[in-house]
Amino acid sequence: MSEIEKPREQIFVTQATLPPFEEYVEEIKPLWKSHIITNMGEKHHTFETTLKEYLGIENISLYTNGHSALEGIIEAMELGSDGRKSIITTPYTFASTTHAIVRKGLTPVFADIKRDDYTIDPDSIRDVITEDVCAILPVHVYGMPCDIESIQQIADEFNLKVIYDAAHAFGAMWNGRSLASYGDASMLSFHATKVFNSIEGGAVCFADNKLEKPLNQWKNFGITGPESVEYVGGNAKLTEFNAAMGICNLRHIEESIEKRKSIFKRYYEKLKGVEGITLPNFPNKLEPNYSYMPVLLDKKYKSTRDELFKTLETDDIHARKYFYPLVTDYACYKDRFSANTPIAKNVADNILTLPIYPDLSLKDVDRICAIVAAPQR
Ligand SMILES: *Cc1c(COP(=O)(O)O)cnc(C)c1O
Repeated sequence: MSEIEKPREQIFVTQATLPPFEEYVEEIKPLWKSHIITNMGEKHHTFETTLKEYLGIENISLYTNGHSALEGIIEAMELGSDGRKSIITTPYTFASTTHAIVRKGLTPVFADIKRDDYTIDPDSIRDVITEDVCAILPVHVYGMPCDIESIQQIADEFNLKVIYDAAHAFGAMWNGRSLASYGDASMLSFHATKVFNSIEGGAVCFADNKLEKPLNQWKNFGITGPESVEYVGGNAKLTEFNAAMGICNLRHIEESIEKRKSIFKRYYEKLKGVEGITLPNFPNKLEPNYSYMPVLLDKKYKSTRDELFKTLETDDIHARKYFYPLVTDYACYKDRFSANTPIAKNVADNILTLPIYPDLSLKDVDRICAIVAAPQR
């Protein structure tokens, strides 16, 4: 096959990070001896301990994925049990955030986002607050920190819990502390597509250690001893193989974020002068994890978001419209919950997240940037 005929590599928005093959094999070898491959074995324990160290946090409970971790913390906090059945959240997120609220029998109430960082707007939280609200569930979108101080102020004023969806925030630091250490609890996702993965996996970081027992029991059928079952729990245990992958990937996380940083910088250099494009603007107190590369287009840009998306597709570059559609526009929600969130709507219609992952070459970044800078050829 000549150079010209060679099919071009498909570039996706992300690519799962894997440790060296031998390193993973070495890590799972002991499992062939112990035959303990799930139910909170040694790898689970080691993973939990190393995560606590890396994140600089006291309390963590591992889960089979981020979503079940979110459902787990809502249950462990017994939200709704005092009669208040609503949780304020953002429509500008992945399906999981709202689904967790609804699947636990609670009602989502949607606040708008801020145009400068796409996180929930505290003023809008105040606009939608009622006596039925028991918690706030904001999202650190693209690893950008929410307005943590203002949100805590509102929570204190109205006696609300704050649970952060920190699925995008692994490795990001805010004010010298892990971004996942704020609020009453934070959910982390270790899904294959995230900055850090254990193939599938997730966790809850939490402040009040009274939550440890219900969180740990929720993921194991509420079993508290060989002959006792105290809670109506589910099953959300992280396996030893997933924990082993997490242990390996955690050894390389800093290098992995460094590589993302150089890619992010290249995008920034090449795209900052392009008319009609807004790039992420990191606040000073943030040490970012460079998890996503969102570009927000406005009227001055040469094409619409959907046109740019298609142009990239024809070059085998698969960007993603994170987050489009808004959660409130999903078929399962659009006739069920109302929302007045014009900024979220506008951002959802004009955002595109470009490929970013540690092994993306700068040459490919340049090629992507050339298309974004001149979409009409
Ligand atoms: C990935 C993601 C989740 C769900 O995490 P899983 O580990 O895939 O269950 C929840 N919220 C957001 C914002 C996410 O990006």
